[in-house]
Amino acid sequence: MSTFKARGIIIKETLVGDNDKALIILLKDYGKFTVWARNCRNGKSKLLAGSWLFSYADFIIYDSGKTLSLNQVDMIENFYNLTEDLDSLAYGTYFLEFVDKNIQEATPINDIMLLLLKSLLILSKSTVISPKLISKIFEIKFLQLNGYMPIINNCIHCNKSIKDEKNIYWGTNGVVCKDCKDKEQHLLKISPNIISVLNHILSSKVDKLYNFNVSENILNELSLISKKLLKIHLYTELKSTSFIEQLENI
Ligand SMILES: [Zn+2]
Repeated sequence: MSTFKARGIIIKETLVGDNDKALIILLKDYGKFTVWARNCRNGKSKLLAGSWLFSYADFIIYDSGKTLSLNQVDMIENFYNLTEDLDSLAYGTYFLEFVDKNIQEATPINDIMLLLLKSLLILSKSTVISPKLISKIFEIKFLQLNGYMPIINNCIHCNKSIKDEKNIYWGTNGVVCKDCKDKEQHLLKISPNIISVLNHILSSKVDKLYNFNVSENILNELSLISKKLLKIHLYTELKSTSFIEQLENI
């Protein structure tokens, strides 16, 4: 039995009984844990304000040996302005669910936490970069942090550099040159510009990720590439995805 303090972000909440919540919190240096917030829905509880989705805080947690319970929350950022805009809220919820469902055991938790926090901050503050572009950058960087590195400079079949190629395609996990295009069943024709966008995403540190914008065409290509990559490597049957698809089709 002990009490410890850890910095983290609440990524899921489940209401339990009349006044409790079961929270899933990403804890820096520790990982993903279920933490009970007892009596937190009671209006007089000191946990009331700090036991919501998106709360990024220092948590004081009691470990009974069997379960973890929340004792105290010192809020750093509650991302309240995400809830004031339908698009931002939809994408923010998607990021949380995506992380919850796709954290692998060996995932470097601190890198994922940083990516999630930076993406939520940009989502809540930036008016320059669209939520859809933020989500595509987030997805591709998340794949990379999990060890799934797409091949973008050489053909995945013959290893030829695609630098001077005019016709480039996207196969299962990377680029394909025109000579090899019959080797893949589902090819996507892509523009050379998308390669520099992917290069930027894969080579940038998280704090420099969101410093560019793209045309609608490039965003659509990025979206299709990300969809293909996610389908091979990650769990994508998320509740929040269908809502985002509805928003994007309005
Ligand atoms: Zn080739």
